Amino acid sequence: MTPTQDANKRIRLVMHLRRMGIADSRVLGAMEKVPRDAFVGPELKHQAWEDTALPIGRGQTISQPYIVALMTQALELKGRETVLEIGTGCGYQTAILAHLCRRIYTIERHKPLLEDAEKRFEALRLRNITAIAGDGMKGWPRINGIEPEPFDRIIVTAAAREKPPQALKDQLKPGGLMVIPVGGSGEQVLKLYRKESEDTFAVRDLAPVRFVPLLPDLAPDKPNGDHAAA
Ligand code: SAH
Repeated sequence: MTPTQDANKRIRLVMHLRRMGIADSRVLGAMEKVPRDAFVGPELKHQAWEDTALPIGRGQTISQPYIVALMTQALELKGRETVLEIGTGCGYQTAILAHLCRRIYTIERHKPLLEDAEKRFEALRLRNITAIAGDGMKGWPRINGIEPEPFDRIIVTAAAREKPPQALKDQLKPGGLMVIPVGGSGEQVLKLYRKESEDTFAVRDLAPVRFVPLLPDLAPDKPNGDHAAA
């Protein structure tokens, strides 16, 4: 791809996102800057700037750019926040957020996906990301018995069956925002939770969506993860 072709693809995506209703200029700037082609396999690079979800291995997907932009915009980031992300996947959403907040903590249950994502963060020189393999339904783990500081924002990029995990509600700062898809396959809704006090939340529906499910525990170490044939 020539530099002009590359710039054209980026601008075309940003114009499309604008038409779809994404208005936050910092979000659009990050979507233009982060090279989505660096987050997919060589056979999919030609489709990387299209507004579609794509497979990333282990039965998982890189989200559609419009949904990434919508979720990011819903977080109302100003630049000083600490953010917790559940479901690193290939790391694309993480990279977008890294440009828009102070520090991002991210958890992925498929170790090989996490390792590839970390290589990409290194190559893109994104230094404000802390990534671990684990079960994000339990929130960020205690270190030496000490609870992590509550987060200003939480983003979950896999769908909770019925409601957000309690650990995530607990780790959100009062006044903070959490964006999370909720529901079974075929009936998921992207929801925005605003924590109004220690145990009250205002909830708003943002859009119908289709995400892979949020699953407990580290994934078994086989090439197809949970989707391996029996
Ligand atoms: N954010 C990614 C989308 C990844 S798809 C992107 O930008 O493309 C959702 C990811 O959530 C998958 O990689 C899946 O393995 C992961 N996931 C599901 N349940 C999880 C859990 N309990 N903890 C951590 N990661 C989880």
